[in-house]
Amino acid sequence: MQTEREFAAEGITTREGCRWVDSNIKVVLTNVTYTGNLLLQKEYIADPISKQRRKNHGELPQYYVENTHPAIIDKATFDYVQSEIARRRKLGCFANKALNLSCFTSKLKCANCGRSYVRSARKRGQYVLWTCGSKKGRGKISCGAKDVPEEQLKRICCEVLGTDAFGSDLFSEKIEKIIVIGKDTMEFHFRDGSALKKKWKTTAKKDMWTPERKALWSAYNYDGGRNGTGVGFNEYVKRKEAQSNGEESNNDPGND
Ligand SMILES: [Zn+2]
Repeated sequence: MQTEREFAAEGITTREGCRWVDSNIKVVLTNVTYTGNLLLQKEYIADPISKQRRKNHGELPQYYVENTHPAIIDKATFDYVQSEIARRRKLGCFANKALNLSCFTSKLKCANCGRSYVRSARKRGQYVLWTCGSKKGRGKISCGAKDVPEEQLKRICCEVLGTDAFGSDLFSEKIEKIIVIGKDTMEFHFRDGSALKKKWKTTAKKDMWTPERKALWSAYNYDGGRNGTGVGFNEYVKRKEAQSNGEESNNDPGND
């Protein structure tokens, strides 16, 4: 994808003046002919009457002829590219650096639709959420699965693994997958075959709060919360702000 865009940006086109696409770039990268050598009988005629051509996957012998023509790419570079393609194929989705990868990638599953959760950063990466892949791609209508804030996910993993600090190596070693069920349950599946259901409650809003708002939340609970103050937290905040602005709050308690 990136190479495709770079070629387009630099105005590099095919011989016919067309835009290079990924599949064509791959043909060039894997064609040994550019190294000045030839591999003969890559294809063969399967049926002499229809003249249908087939790829030779070992049905017939192949002949490798060296130095048949000037090389565009040296053989060492070509071999390196082939080993890199093989390495990335083995890595699967982890080979793509452009993706937001972490130890949670492809480990967090949506119980609702079965898709993996994907990472999404908000506010320039300060706040990271994990969202069901269907929900992120096609919106809430496709899947209403609950988002999981990354910080909270780490805290829950620490509780489950019995550690003070989160370590991605330990996580990868112990946990096979986590299934996010409904609004308040995560089902941890361990590599040893055991499983554990964990209740959780999102702290998404509170994680985004400013220190002032967090302090007010503590004060609100100290005052007894809704029962003690007679109002909801938002109303409580408004009153505190009005008070600190030197204004008198005219609102009736309990009228929240
Ligand atoms: Zn889902």
